[in-house]
Amino acid sequence: MDDSAIRHIPFMRLDRQFAAHRDAFMAAMMPVLEGGAVLQGPPVAAFEAKLAAMLGAKYAVAVGSGTDAVLLAMHALDLPEGSRVAVPAITFIASAAPILHVRCRPVFVDCDPQTGLADEAALLDLIERRAVDAVIVVHLYGQMQNMDRIAPAARERGIPIIEDAAQAVGSSRNGAQPGRSGICAAISFDPMKVIGAFGSGGALVTDDERVARTVRQLRYHGDDGKQRYVRPGFNCQMHSIQAALLSVKLEQVQAWQARRRVIANVLDDALAGIPGFRRMTTLPGNLHNDHKYVVWAEDRDGLRQSLADAGVQTKVHYPVLHRQPLFAPFTDGVSCPNADAISAHVLSLPMYPELTDDEVVYIGRAVRGSLGAVQRAR
Ligand SMILES: *Cc1c(COP(=O)(O)O)cnc(C)c1O
Repeated sequence: MDDSAIRHIPFMRLDRQFAAHRDAFMAAMMPVLEGGAVLQGPPVAAFEAKLAAMLGAKYAVAVGSGTDAVLLAMHALDLPEGSRVAVPAITFIASAAPILHVRCRPVFVDCDPQTGLADEAALLDLIERRAVDAVIVVHLYGQMQNMDRIAPAARERGIPIIEDAAQAVGSSRNGAQPGRSGICAAISFDPMKVIGAFGSGGALVTDDERVARTVRQLRYHGDDGKQRYVRPGFNCQMHSIQAALLSVKLEQVQAWQARRRVIANVLDDALAGIPGFRRMTTLPGNLHNDHKYVVWAEDRDGLRQSLADAGVQTKVHYPVLHRQPLFAPFTDGVSCPNADAISAHVLSLPMYPELTDDEVVYIGRAVRGSLGAVQRAR
């Protein structure tokens, strides 16, 4: 391989994705532009139908972003003010901030240092003690939280669960996709997600007719469809162009996931056996969609710097939530030591289907080189 040709590997490459599917994207967009109806209408309905079918859900409601999906799901729960809502301490801010929007109280759950997911025992304990009134489960990095014990325990006690599946399109656990154990699942089409919009997009999938109807109303001013405004709502519509583009992308989900798997396997192999370094673990029974390739490194900041020097862009997923200023009123005495450790040690490497084979090898070598590990002959 000629390393000298590679100078910079960005964290995402939607430009390459566009180049690879240019004709299909243009063909999908043209009728929307020519027809002139740019909000709602057939492209959005068609996208919702495809998404629901893909995720095995009865209903899909397209919204403006994954954040909208979590927010409208929280509104649809209609919890009494001050209700306590469990949420992992390691996740994107959008999993938790909606709790404040509906005047509820976040209860941060410590996480499992192996996977980064919420600590199952800690979450189960909160549910069993009825120390929470609702739960936001986050399927982090691309694998699902084990719901085998959590879901029945919550159901038994009437504690509703929202699944934040922003990172888990294409993931499954023992064959079941997100949305099977919660009231609904929030999906994101942020450009960095496995199906990234050319802009923002999100959706909520559910089998619950009432939740679907409520979220449809909430996404457009509480309109019941007959210009009767039945609740205070928002304007969180998915644009018709985005829906048309996302429908094209849905066709690629399996091919893209297969390519991410190949890349992940190459990296797994290239990075095996380095002391003080590992990829975050996948739970038995989980199909990981390889959305994020997250590693744990003793000297994370050193690794991040030398990768930056080698032109490899990385990200930290995430700063812990229980130390964010907006949650200060709810974090007195809260301690999530594992989450703190995860946040200090994880690093996400570039991971997208458009990485070339040479780039993947380059990333592997750059990591090994940074860590002073002996280069493997390949
Ligand atoms: C990306 C993400 C969201 C928010 O989705 P947006 O489309 O960016 O608004 C919510 N939760 C998690 C876990 C995410 O990764």
